[in-house]
Amino acid sequence: MLVCLDPGHGGSDPGATYGTLYEKTLTLALVLALGRRLVDTYSVDVMYTRQDDRFVGLSERARIANDARANFFLSIHINAGGGEGYEDYIYPGTEKGATGRIRDVLHDYIAHFLQKLGVADRGKKEADFAVLRETVMDAVLLEVLFIDSAKDRALLVSPEFQDQFAAAAAAGLADALQLPLRGTPTPAPTPAPTSSPGPEVLYRVQVGAFHDRQRADALAAELRQKGYPAIVLPESVAGH
Ligand SMILES: [Zn+2]
Repeated sequence: MLVCLDPGHGGSDPGATYGTLYEKTLTLALVLALGRRLVDTYSVDVMYTRQDDRFVGLSERARIANDARANFFLSIHINAGGGEGYEDYIYPGTEKGATGRIRDVLHDYIAHFLQKLGVADRGKKEADFAVLRETVMDAVLLEVLFIDSAKDRALLVSPEFQDQFAAAAAAGLADALQLPLRGTPTPAPTPAPTSSPGPEVLYRVQVGAFHDRQRADALAAELRQKGYPAIVLPESVAGH
């Protein structure tokens, strides 16, 4: 299981700001704390779209995770704009599938932890964010408190809060993604009928083949609207 962690913003893009406090700094602190917690506690591989203060474009973030064939993508942001509390996002239309199930579990763990600190639960939401749209694996984006709320900000800048948040998010991910504890022997794999495929195998699902490009594009557009990352590939049919 490979989890890709994505700290929002970075480099020339500070994200939301409050005085000299930047969203990009807080997202990186939370992501690094979460990554440490995950690999220290669970049997899981963790990768990052950035691990220092650098600019990475939104499509590039998705491409990094897609190229590495990550199994799950988690983006962390800090909110702004006059509210307070926690909310998370999945791509529109994915709430009934695996993405929605993972988000539900993760949300429960994080919201329950934050509730003990008196932080408001703003709910489970959907949005057409680029990193959710362009990643091919299940993806969730967290908006962790508001940088322009004094109450939220006091928590965000606290290393203790950052560690506790990381622990809650890691426990939620472990439950949602069925991560075994580190050192736990993994159950014997079900014998495969033929040669056993390694984790590098990628299975593609074809849903249509057309001689008419417009019909192919129309079906792909319909699938994308439903949240599937559909693409149209030309293929020679010489011999027919
Ligand atoms: Zn952001």
